[in-house]
Amino acid sequence: MSEELPKRRLKGIRKALDDKKQRLELKERQRRRLAESASRRPLPPRRKDWRHTDDQHEIDEPERVARPVRRSPYAVGPEPLPEGIGTIVEIRPGESLVAHGGAVVRAALPAMGTAIGPSARSPLAVGDRVQLLCIGGDQSRIMAILPRRSALTRDVYDASRRDAVHQSHVLAANIDQVIVVCSPAEPPFRPRLIDRYLVAASRDSLPAVVCLNKEDLGVAGKVEWYLDGYSRLGVPVLRTSALTGTGLVELKECMAGRICLLTGHSGVGKSSLLNALDPALALRTGEVTQTASGQGKGRHTTSAARLIALSLPSTFVVDTPGIRAFGIRGMEARELALHFGDIAALALGCAFDDCLHRGEPACAVAGRARHDDFLGERLESYRGMLKELE
Ligand code: GDP
Ligand code: ZN
Repeated sequence: MSEELPKRRLKGIRKALDDKKQRLELKERQRRRLAESASRRPLPPRRKDWRHTDDQHEIDEPERVARPVRRSPYAVGPEPLPEGIGTIVEIRPGESLVAHGGAVVRAALPAMGTAIGPSARSPLAVGDRVQLLCIGGDQSRIMAILPRRSALTRDVYDASRRDAVHQSHVLAANIDQVIVVCSPAEPPFRPRLIDRYLVAASRDSLPAVVCLNKEDLGVAGKVEWYLDGYSRLGVPVLRTSALTGTGLVELKECMAGRICLLTGHSGVGKSSLLNALDPALALRTGEVTQTASGQGKGRHTTSAARLIALSLPSTFVVDTPGIRAFGIRGMEARELALHFGDIAALALGCAFDDCLHRGEPACAVAGRARHDDFLGERLESYRGMLKELE
């Protein structure tokens, strides 16, 4: 009897030790797998496109087969093992969809503390490259966000919050260029919104292109006048019609081999353009609703930003929800003029070095604007944004 008890106790201790050993081994296996996958694929091979030899693409070919749009819900599965480096294709409440190894997997959002920047509205953005860790079955967790090579941000101000602060919202990360889509009508042409996108792209060091869609509706003289003005500024201008197919070859050429952010007011035809370029996408498009004033107002047809693979080599597009307002904050008032190339060039002739071109004496910009209507419009646009910065 007296020997029984120590024996049983010994057995219990042995079992506890075995359990602990097993747990440690499992942990070690997980750690090794993570380290291996990180060293195996630190960055996927970059694909060279002979047309754009200076492009650097961080999304590799296998992810091209991750065409998450048509199938709904997304193809989510345990194969291949959802671990390694993937690319965020969509963010949903509480989870994200990550293109990884030719499939799209669901991954829990990272724990607090992994956010990029304390004021980031969302720590993760579509296009982000992330390190995934398998936590069982087809479940993955985002362990780290790889450094971004670019990002387009929009400033958001939530006045309903007591601690209201301006926050920057990353629309998309790791993109090559911004395509600002607009229309001559339905919804109406909005040069002030275009200027905001151009300033944001310049601030974030991204090249921008203006794409006037719905050209089949007829382009009024005033709209042509603006487009000419943008061309003179050096901004490439494309004219397309998703309806008739006009300009689609040029748009395709402009996008080929790049990761583009397609943005603009809702209803201008972004989804229709993508469908016209790649009918297999079958994106949902919306009718434009009319306001009481008879002015076309775009309807919100895209609910969240998402990364879509086009049927062209290494070509991706981030389709954003229609954005009606685009806040420009988070920069010094003095910096703003630097993102208006035409104003910045003339500013050298202003009498005061710190001239903000809003009525100071001997302002070269205002002086020239009296004889140059397009510059006059740009100056008004600039002054509108300047007010927001003060
Ligand atoms: P999005 O909100 O920018 O994605 O716009 P959609 O692609 O949903 O298009 C909004 C509406 O404009 C739909 O009714 C489309 O059929 C229409 N639309 C799109 N492209 C064109 C175009 O090139 N010409 C004309 N006339 N209508 C278009
Ligand atoms: Zn000035």
